[in-house]
Amino acid sequence: MIRSDAVFANSFPQQALPRVIVIGAGLGGLCLAQGLRRAGIEVAVYERDADSTARTQGHRLHIDQRGRDALAKVLPPHLFSLLAAIVGRPAPTVRGFDHQLRPTGAFPLEDSPQRPVEDVMPAHTVLDRHVLRRILLTGLDDIVHYGRECVGYDSERGTVTARFADGGTARGTILVGADGIGSVIRAQRLPHARVVDSRIRLVYGRVPFTSELREALPSAMFSVFNSVVGPDGRFVGIAPVEYHESPATAAARLAPEVTLDPTSNTLAVMFGRRSDRLGLSDRDLRAASGEDLRALVRAQLAGGHPLVTTLVENWSRPSIFPVTVRSSVPVPPWPTSNVTLLGDAIHAMSPAAGAGANMALRDGAALATALATGHHLPAAVRDYELAMVEEGFRMVRLSAANGTRTLGADLLPG
Ligand SMILES: Cc1cc2nc3c(=O)[nH]c(=O)nc-3n(C[C@H](O)[C@H](O)[C@H](O)COP(=O)(O)OP(=O)(O)OC[C@H]3O[C@@H](n4cnc5c(N)ncnc54)[C@H](O)[C@@H]3O)c2cc1C
Repeated sequence: MIRSDAVFANSFPQQALPRVIVIGAGLGGLCLAQGLRRAGIEVAVYERDADSTARTQGHRLHIDQRGRDALAKVLPPHLFSLLAAIVGRPAPTVRGFDHQLRPTGAFPLEDSPQRPVEDVMPAHTVLDRHVLRRILLTGLDDIVHYGRECVGYDSERGTVTARFADGGTARGTILVGADGIGSVIRAQRLPHARVVDSRIRLVYGRVPFTSELREALPSAMFSVFNSVVGPDGRFVGIAPVEYHESPATAAARLAPEVTLDPTSNTLAVMFGRRSDRLGLSDRDLRAASGEDLRALVRAQLAGGHPLVTTLVENWSRPSIFPVTVRSSVPVPPWPTSNVTLLGDAIHAMSPAAGAGANMALRDGAALATALATGHHLPAAVRDYELAMVEEGFRMVRLSAANGTRTLGADLLPG
């Protein structure tokens, strides 16, 4: 028995369709909002950033079948067609190399059984995060409220009120914490749920995918992800993003209301290592300029294959930034109420399985579907949470195991 009947009965509204308050306009929160809007459910999203371009959101993302199926479910069909037209389609394989770029293995990515959507968009595709966010934001102008930092919530019988740093409030019947790894909603709802520092640091950058680079790159590297592991857990990830059709051209053809900037093909190149072997404190890492980070990584790669060093030399300067890899610690299911969570807010994971965004999208679509059933809301939310906890923490453990194997550090310490 994982629910307390008192909490359950008191916290849910009696009305058939809820008013949903979502905290966070990241991938998961926007996916949920698209699904709810499609189902005709009232929804408002509150985002702390000043606007959709406030932060560089240019990481490359690998979308797997979970992410794809979620997007197919929530997006209006013409927006899904746009997505399917543009996404890059590398070979569905993760390849391993040693520091001299000698192949060490090839891992075909698991595939879904053939589904209708398979004809339109393959199970493993890539694109830049800002392109996906732009598509997910389409049609939500009147729903997404920027510059609203949530600081907590109050629950009363049947309603929940989000409180914001600006003194304002928003009241709904269901509150969803989609506010990422530092979630304030999780901190209040599940104070025992912890996030730990994996002690892995990444330096991330992107290289323009010129025709010369295309020539120089070994053909095996036109895969979803290439993992170059050198001595002593020095790791370089190399991942091409080659759009199938130019995003701006496809938008003009399929969804003229979407403004997609001209976007070039790139190669995402990230370096990772245990923090205690980087020779730089976290404070210095955060304070370092792009050029300092490039010099640090160049020194770490000494003795490796010249192509890898060349890629780092060619990182475009504004694209270079450090990442602290953190992971949530799995917790058992909790008593369901009208405050729930999705994505990184509950099951943040290391990027080592390329799954965090896909799980956030999956959660958003699953919760929208659950809330749209229109009958017995408490059971719908409970079923959503049970499946989300099981699948989400399974991926947290898998990502940690992948990272531990590659980088020689325990990514879920304790
Ligand atoms: C370098 C790197 C590469 C990655 N590559 C992949 C990949 O290839 N595939 C993949 O599946 N995953 C990948 N991930 C993981 C993925 O980025 C995350 O799992 C995903 O973004 C989680 O989505 P989310 O919506 O849960 O949270 P987020 O995207 O973090 O969104 C949370 C939103 O909430 C807002 N917010 C936070 N606090 C508040 C508040 N108090 N009030 C209001 N708003 C708030 C934030 O500003 C943000 O907009 C990668 C991660 C990194 C770091």
